[in-house]
Amino acid sequence: ENTIKIGIVGYGNLGRGAEASIMQQPDMELVAVFTRRNPESVQVLNSNVKVLHIDEAPNYKEDIDVMLICGGSATDLPEQVPYFAQLFNTVDSFDTHAKIPEFFASVDKPAKESGKTSIISVGWDPGMFSINRVLSEALLPQGETYTFWGKGLSQGHSDAVRRVDGVKNGVQYTIPSEKVIEQVRNGENPDVSKNDRHVRECYIVAEEGADKQKIEHEIKTMPNYFADYDTTVHFISEEELKREHSAMPHGGFVIRSGETGEGNKQIIEYSLKLESNPEFTASVLTAYARAAHRLNKEGQTGAKTVYDVAPGYISPKTAEELRRDYL
Ligand code: NDP
Repeated sequence: ENTIKIGIVGYGNLGRGAEASIMQQPDMELVAVFTRRNPESVQVLNSNVKVLHIDEAPNYKEDIDVMLICGGSATDLPEQVPYFAQLFNTVDSFDTHAKIPEFFASVDKPAKESGKTSIISVGWDPGMFSINRVLSEALLPQGETYTFWGKGLSQGHSDAVRRVDGVKNGVQYTIPSEKVIEQVRNGENPDVSKNDRHVRECYIVAEEGADKQKIEHEIKTMPNYFADYDTTVHFISEEELKREHSAMPHGGFVIRSGETGEGNKQIIEYSLKLESNPEFTASVLTAYARAAHRLNKEGQTGAKTVYDVAPGYISPKTAEELRRDYL
């Protein structure tokens, strides 16, 4: 039997994206979704999929090859991943960059003890962007690497604008500065802080009779959130907000601008333009589930990162097919 049997722990945006992504994979089957909530209250995409309480997961030890852990990074994953690594091969999207070394250690130990394989911090950043930073810096040791995020909806900044007096509803996008991207693409290696690499755009629904100028001023001068950025405020109707700003787009660029030999400029660029951040992130998780399964069969146990996984392991094709089709 060649089908990889997958389980999903946690059914938020990412869990839902994972369910959809598994349906697109030729060699995977979803066994069950596990949740901390009452399973009957969780509405999955495909009504044939089993939804179970998370406490039942250990009973599926023999029936699931890889568990996708789709909880939140702040408090869920630091608890859930070390626990599930005792029982299953796992893949997660832990994205608190500064805490990754500590998280790795907390997963590596139980995974080694259980003889399981856990690929941590998979997604696009960390994930695909991390791979591209390493690849391009290894190839061009002399140069600068720039990461730009967006256009992306920022939850924290959207919450902040919604708390401003007179604001009924609103969202905030972080957008890479066109001017700075242009300079980087031209190989000018500008010395710009993260703040100056990005601009912020707000779409606001004002309350009836509210002073729009005052709202705009208050947003633009908000310390930490907007004061240090180039910020634009647009006022729109509630209908337009619902229609145009309900999705979760994201993406960005990793650009390495280097020089080789006799001073020739070399530029490497990787870019993502995502209509749905969670659906894309989930697609990365399922591809790496394949790698976790294969590595485990080879006896490569413990915690791994995207750096430890050769690209061939995430493809449904065999090594022979890859040599024939892509080299
Ligand atoms: P959500 O907040 O949507 O879901 C997190 C958890 O909350 C779920 O697993 C679920 O657990 C619980 N939950 C979801 N909906 C409800 C609800 N209505 N009521 C109560 N509980 C609920 O987070 P996302 O799925 O959007 O993101 C998960 C993590 O993925 C993020 O924390 C982020 O750090 C990471 N991420 C990483 C990326 C990368 O590039 N590496 C990119 C994008 C995200 P349960 O079913 O058990 O209740």
